[in-house]
Amino acid sequence: MVKIVTVIGARPQFIKAAVLSRLMHLEPYSADFKEFIIHTGQHYDQNMSAVFFEEMAIPAPQINLGIGGKSHGAMTGEMLIAIEKILMDIKPDLVLVYGDTDSTLAGALAAGKLLIPIAHVEAGLRSHVMAMPEEQNRILTDHLASWLLAPTATAAENLAKENVHGRIHITGDIMYDAHLFYRPRAQMPPCAREEPYFLATVHRAENTDNKANLENIFAGLSQIKERVILPLHPRTRQKCQTFGLNIPPNIKVLEPVGYLEMLGLELNAKAIITDSGGVQKEAYFCQKPCITLRSETEWVETVTSGWNTLAATNGEAIAEAAKNLKIPQNYPPLYGDGHCGEKILKILG
Ligand code: UDP
Repeated sequence: MVKIVTVIGARPQFIKAAVLSRLMHLEPYSADFKEFIIHTGQHYDQNMSAVFFEEMAIPAPQINLGIGGKSHGAMTGEMLIAIEKILMDIKPDLVLVYGDTDSTLAGALAAGKLLIPIAHVEAGLRSHVMAMPEEQNRILTDHLASWLLAPTATAAENLAKENVHGRIHITGDIMYDAHLFYRPRAQMPPCAREEPYFLATVHRAENTDNKANLENIFAGLSQIKERVILPLHPRTRQKCQTFGLNIPPNIKVLEPVGYLEMLGLELNAKAIITDSGGVQKEAYFCQKPCITLRSETEWVETVTSGWNTLAATNGEAIAEAAKNLKIPQNYPPLYGDGHCGEKILKILG
């Protein structure tokens, strides 16, 4: 029996963890794994946290640390102290972390210092922009991990170039497993049942924390002739208020939606505009053209395959890409076969 402590805390991690947590409760894996979930509390609103546990049937965390809404240093530090205590108590065989948030790094650091092996799901992603907090979290976690579970060959190459000392495995993408499993349960919010629309999300710090960038993004979205549906991340909402920005009239703002509604919105959109890593991939899973509000992406295959256009925060480039959507003929299987979860459990078992 492998005793696993899973550390999660932010929206995309709930979605990724849903896949492995579900499998670990099913035969044959339930005989081999016992999972203990720590929720750090990094995301805490009902629609940024609880909704995912309910809809995706993720087991309730055994502990919620309630550490959210602080600066990166304070959050990472407080999580590290709290997780260390729990790990000393539980003495797991390994600690499982996902992605690139402060919760990922805190979980990895706590385990690393106690010499508990770490498995990192979504290892090897790189933007090559060290100013991004996510890039710092990923690189540090990858260098601490024993199992580097890379979603793509590119991610595995990034890790090999950095001479990480853990074992690198190419597993496919865990979010693709989630997408395939929950797709039949996708829900459609009433506002999306009418005419064609673009779906947009904006939440990355380099966009939300910079008034000019946020203004440029809205200037680009305002030039789109169709409606733009924007489930608004709490940070972006707060920054719009602080900067006194007016949302253009063609944009329909929603509260953040649950995963099943997000799936429905993605599947029915004309195209997707986003700065989210996960949403760029989901656009690809839904075979929708994507316009990315960044000048680089970790998910380079979406760009080289022609499905994703990097428009950064250039209003004209956003409007132009939305007007001339590219829908390539080819749709290569970039993100695995939908059995990433099973592969990971085989590696860890
Ligand atoms: N998502 C959601 N509701 C929303 C916006 C996003 O369920 O209102 C989901 C989305 O489908 C994807 C994940 O959240 O699975 C992406 O998370 P986020 O954009 O917060 O983080 P990133 O992927 O950039 O790390």
